[in-house]
Amino acid sequence: MIRRKSGPIPTQLPAQTAHAGHNGPVERSIETQVSQAVDAWLRWLPRWEPATHRGRIAPCRRCFGSPVLSAAGLGSDVPHGVQHGLSTRIKTIIDHAVAGYTAHNLPMLQAELDQQAARNRARTYRPAEGLDPEFEGLPMDPDPVPGAPFLFTISGLADEVDAALPALPPLSAEAKAALRQEVGLADDYATLIGRDVCGILLHHRLRIQAAVSQYVEPQIASMLEELARSLDAPFASPAEPPGDADTDPTSRPGL
Ligand SMILES: [Zn+2]
Repeated sequence: MIRRKSGPIPTQLPAQTAHAGHNGPVERSIETQVSQAVDAWLRWLPRWEPATHRGRIAPCRRCFGSPVLSAAGLGSDVPHGVQHGLSTRIKTIIDHAVAGYTAHNLPMLQAELDQQAARNRARTYRPAEGLDPEFEGLPMDPDPVPGAPFLFTISGLADEVDAALPALPPLSAEAKAALRQEVGLADDYATLIGRDVCGILLHHRLRIQAAVSQYVEPQIASMLEELARSLDAPFASPAEPPGDADTDPTSRPGL
């Protein structure tokens, strides 16, 4: 079910066990996992609403130009909040597959990850963990406003906690080179799984598109209508003086 290319993937890996065997016979196939991720996203989508706050300036590194989102048919014309919930759920599947591959084929990388995980568990403040897929991986703080510095930021507090932990012991040059090679193999495997996932997502495009038409497009259409109305008659209501946030088109979120 998973197509494999002949390439830099180590030959000692029994191909069919990469994500199916090692985690037990009940491990779901990638196809099933993708299908269930789309199901979960479709269950969430009716709750989506356009953001009411100012949009971010920097594009999301997970979603911007994502081949997964193109395969799913969620292009740049779809609001980021809608994209992010799906791209995060799909990323979790790929990460999980790569973790299984690493655990069984890449001992140096696994040892490094184990050390990092132990260090992470020692942190007393971990604000980025345990978030819903719709929020996971997003910046924890709002974009800074020029001339209005924050007293503190969540990421700043997390960094302070992090800095108090002892660093991991340094690696020798040989160990670094070996580790780099294993990281490369893990990357290759992630690319392979990512391609498979994209192929699988193509089969879910129709139901994804139908849900976007049902739950997202009407909300965008009504936002645009509201914007057009406020541009046509900015001074129509005496209760809303010019420059008020409700009539300032630049304050409209998510456009
Ligand atoms: Zn995103």
